[in-house]
Amino acid sequence: MPPIPTMTAEPAARAEGLHRAYGRGAAAVHALRGVDLAFASGTFTAVMGPSGSGKTSLLHCLAGMDRPTRGAVWWGGTEVSRLPERRLAHLRRSRVGFVFQAFNLMPAMTVAQNVELPGRLAGTRVDRAEVLDALARVGLAGREGHRPGQLSGGQQQRVAIARALVSRPEILFADEPTGALDRATGHEILALLRAGVDQKGQSCVMVTHDPVAAAYADRVVFLADGRVVDDLDRPALSVIIDRLARLGG
Ligand code: ADP
Ligand code: MG
Repeated sequence: MPPIPTMTAEPAARAEGLHRAYGRGAAAVHALRGVDLAFASGTFTAVMGPSGSGKTSLLHCLAGMDRPTRGAVWWGGTEVSRLPERRLAHLRRSRVGFVFQAFNLMPAMTVAQNVELPGRLAGTRVDRAEVLDALARVGLAGREGHRPGQLSGGQQQRVAIARALVSRPEILFADEPTGALDRATGHEILALLRAGVDQKGQSCVMVTHDPVAAAYADRVVFLADGRVVDDLDRPALSVIIDRLARLGG
């Protein structure tokens, strides 16, 4: 009998030979210097490294919010780094969610309006039931009429997560999502990200400075000077702390 072909699932996202330079010539800052990474579907990855090592640049390129100078980014089977801007924006809206450290909510809008906003900007109709469902998923049922200023920091980050999840993206990127929160509130947010991966089969790539936060992930990737210098599978907290200390992070 012929061998059964092995079906290798496409990674949710992939970076291939990624370079990102800011500026040109001798004054250029090389934030990414050849990054190759694949993020399997249904996994939670933490990205760590010293300040200035290229974590945010990597996340922005992976999320299609910035263009690499060289190399490619793939979402599943689609090479996104070369798509024209309109197609990229459209695809990003349906396939990718992004959460920022500073929440980035609109203070004059209600919670529900904030969750709807990316869809409205993209010109797609946002179903009210989907908005309420996304808010319920992050534990904010009944808060849809509040303004961000009436909520705690942790609740505001939950709104930002609901906003990122409302389009049911395959992959969620989060840049230091617990950086502005106290430890207990940060734990709630991390548990929420973890649950999305475990229960919804979502993928998550999270930048963090905090080894305790990184220990929620399945895998921890370490960057230094724009390159991947380590890639650990389910490392113990002590291993993460030690690795980071040796990088000067
Ligand atoms: P990290 O998130 O790990 O702190 P960044 O990706 O933000 O790292 O930055 C990597 C390097 O690129 C740093 O040296 C930073 O100063 C530089 N950099 C980031 N964004 C810009 C920009 N828009 N213009 C110029 N330099 C930048
Ligand atoms: Mg950063």
